[in-house]
Amino acid sequence: MRKINIFDTTLRDGEQSAGINLNHSEKMEVARQLERLGVDIIEAGFPASSKGDFRAVQEIANTIRNCSVTGLSRSNMKDIDTSWDALKGGAEPRLHLFLATSPIHMTYKLKMTPEQVLEAAVEAVKYAKKKFSIVQFSAEDATRSDLPFLAKVVKEVIDAGATVINIPDTVGYITPKEYGQIFTYLKDNVPNIGQAQLSCHCHDDLGMAVANSLAAIEHGASQVECTINGIGERAGNAALEEISVALHIRNDFYQAKTGLNLQQIKKTSTLVSKLTGVVVPPNKAVVGKNAFAHESGIHQDGVLKEKTTYEIISPELVGVPSNDMVLGKHSGRHAFRNRMEELGYTLTTEEINNLFVSFKELADKKKEITDDDLLSLLYEEKLGSAVKFYELKSLQVQYVTHQVTTSTISMTTPDGEEVHEACTGSGSVEAIYNTLERIIGSKVHLEDYRIQANTGGRDALAEVFVKINFNEMTSSGRGTAQDVLEASAKAYINAVNRTLVQKQYKEEMENLVR
Ligand SMILES: [Zn+2]
Repeated sequence: MRKINIFDTTLRDGEQSAGINLNHSEKMEVARQLERLGVDIIEAGFPASSKGDFRAVQEIANTIRNCSVTGLSRSNMKDIDTSWDALKGGAEPRLHLFLATSPIHMTYKLKMTPEQVLEAAVEAVKYAKKKFSIVQFSAEDATRSDLPFLAKVVKEVIDAGATVINIPDTVGYITPKEYGQIFTYLKDNVPNIGQAQLSCHCHDDLGMAVANSLAAIEHGASQVECTINGIGERAGNAALEEISVALHIRNDFYQAKTGLNLQQIKKTSTLVSKLTGVVVPPNKAVVGKNAFAHESGIHQDGVLKEKTTYEIISPELVGVPSNDMVLGKHSGRHAFRNRMEELGYTLTTEEINNLFVSFKELADKKKEITDDDLLSLLYEEKLGSAVKFYELKSLQVQYVTHQVTTSTISMTTPDGEEVHEACTGSGSVEAIYNTLERIIGSKVHLEDYRIQANTGGRDALAEVFVKINFNEMTSSGRGTAQDVLEASAKAYINAVNRTLVQKQYKEEMENLVR
């Protein structure tokens, strides 16, 4: 059976999509989980795009040992040099070069003639090849390119040393049949095509990203670029979980397999959803909440008699536990540690001790603590609130129907001072945010606010996700608490802290440059 390489771009194409900004430790956590999932290649970022991206790509390359780590690079020497500095410590450094080949992109964006594009692509690949053993070339907007020209570029860059050729459907325009035909065309018209691996990269603007990726695999692609939960630019990228499970369930048809540990799929999906704040729709294939729920009486009856009557994927295949193991007030440290380990997290004694305190506090208020609750506690402790410039001490809100709402807050500031402040608002959340803004002392624009219950039940944890603009920087923040108002305050403070981390980091970098 053919092996298909999974090239995950959650941290590059996924992370660059609207409203997502992961901090450094969150990117590391996603990379480690992708390694557990067993992807072949992690595209960790775009090193030349910002100092933050550079640092994240560098640390991921230096840390991850079981995957090849790559970064995106424009086709110029400066980008290639920067990418090499970021990637050289990797287990198998590879570069992802791109240059557009469609008439629209060449004329309007690049303002280059096809001859100039061809020359620039060849020069870039030759230069990259002096440093990287694996060079991938992407013909940006390939699906709207002139096929004879595309074939010419592909031939020349292979001669120059490219060993992976990616044919991206950058704008999500192609249909499965046409996409397959492009791969066949290249196989028939590029004499040296056998010296390179073919790769696909699809966007979901017309809802065909996964179907297109599978069509490419049918027509010779042996690398597929995708993201967890299909996050990415605009309508997103092809979803990793859908492609890999389709290849597994229908291997009779595709005759291809991946090296993934499919049981890590659900966990990876949950991690990415929690960290990015991008909610997985309940009806989403493979990882949606309802993906394995049988609602109709006839279906339920069938499944009870024989599962395969209506169930083509078993939840266990992708790591959805058949019964959510529940901890409670009487669960001890040992059970707690065990469950964390079963969930895949090896924590230090100090981390366990801190988390166990939060666990006990929660268990006092909530009867059953599910895996989702444990993960929320973990992300809250370990990642989201790792740096606390501002920290919430206490919160009081007075709400009376048809009257002005008042909020009173105590908080520690970056100087370690404890301040108290009160403000009004037309609603509870507004009153809280007005109070926080007054303590922080400068304008904070709230761009997005979302709330959801972590699990079912009246005592479920509330999760709030916000996006703010503060200090001319946009940042997201998360907060989890038993109370929705506390979760709202925490999310806002978390977002402010994250912009301050970004600012501090930027200043450090500028000082280094000086
Ligand atoms: Zn893309």
